[in-house]
Amino acid sequence: MKPFKLLTPESLTQALAMFWGSEGKAAALGGGTELLNLIRTSLSDPGVIIDLKSLKRLRGVRSSRSGVAIGATTQLSELSPQCRPLQPFAALTQAAAAVGTPQIRNRATLGGNLCQRPRCLYLRSGFDCWKSGGTQCPARHGESSGLAILGAERTSCLAVHPSDPAVALSVFDTRVKLVSASGSRLVPLAQFLAPHESDAGRDTVLRSDELVTEVRIASPRPGTRSAYVKVADRAAFSFALASAAAACVMDRGMLRHVRLALGGVAGAPWRARVAEEALQGRKLTPARLESAARAELAAARHLERNGYKVDLAIGALQEAVERAVGGRL
Ligand SMILES: Cc1cc2nc3c(=O)[nH]c(=O)nc-3n(C[C@H](O)[C@H](O)[C@H](O)COP(=O)(O)OP(=O)(O)OC[C@H]3O[C@@H](n4cnc5c(N)ncnc54)[C@H](O)[C@@H]3O)c2cc1C
Ligand code: SF4
Repeated sequence: MKPFKLLTPESLTQALAMFWGSEGKAAALGGGTELLNLIRTSLSDPGVIIDLKSLKRLRGVRSSRSGVAIGATTQLSELSPQCRPLQPFAALTQAAAAVGTPQIRNRATLGGNLCQRPRCLYLRSGFDCWKSGGTQCPARHGESSGLAILGAERTSCLAVHPSDPAVALSVFDTRVKLVSASGSRLVPLAQFLAPHESDAGRDTVLRSDELVTEVRIASPRPGTRSAYVKVADRAAFSFALASAAAACVMDRGMLRHVRLALGGVAGAPWRARVAEEALQGRKLTPARLESAARAELAAARHLERNGYKVDLAIGALQEAVERAVGGRL
């Protein structure tokens, strides 16, 4: 591991000045569960690490009239069903509880979770590829079992986004607050996780002088119930092979409002808009739900070893909706 300088700012202003002064060579430190791996595998080489954990302003869950704001250094274990402001966002607390292991959740922060890099074996093993600054994807013709099945025709990298919370946040109106010494901006989550294709090496639109300071979620419509379902090869210590989140308002058997997202199947959480359209304003029946989920996955394209994800995603989507409406089908 190359040596680096560790800085511990006492205020956000001081942290931002440190970023500004480091000319793109600094990395923010949340829980360190990802950053230290990135440094160890040479995927990150910061001369300076700026530890955000002492900044009280960036920690905790606050409610307001318009929703909740979760500080970037809030640990995933704090996003629990016991946290009262998060009670309208069950999908998020379920997704946070599905991350890794208790040790990881006690250390990992929400900001760091949204900024993590893909878990692609090739990237993590030092292969030259789009995400490491190269111009090829060795995974396409190699070990493809973890790769994307949706949206793959539009991207050069086929790695899936690894975050569980990001999928749950996608069924709510979520914006990420980015702050630098020169100002701040509120970016919708989908935009935050979608750097331009010409910037294939990046995973977010975060600039090198910016920090994530909080994640804002607007209050859902009255009566919204939500759920998150994760399918993995083990109950703990595993990333999603496929996952789904659903947020629904049900009224006398009709789905008045529905938002759906899939994880583990695309380079970013995938809004299941085809399925949403097939369900919105209609009576929810098992047959209609299955047909909506199948319609969403009709666009899936798979390689040699990731075709199994199609059925996993269809099942996860159905189960997320069923759980969200309380199994009343
Ligand atoms: C064994 C294991 C299992 C895991 N399983 C899962 C899983 O099932 N589901 C899942 O979702 N994740 C999983 N993860 C990933 C884990 O959730 C992330 O490593 C963690 O959330 C990152 O948060 P952190 O605070 O530790 O980030 P750090 O390691 O501190 O930082 C990660 C990256 O984000 C940047 N960063 C951190 N905070 C900020 C900020 N406020 N502003 C700007 N940049 C910032 C850092 O510079 C770094 O590049 C797993 C990780 C491990 C090691
Ligand atoms: S899938 Fe993405 S991260 Fe993996 S080798 Fe291909 S370009 Fe690299």
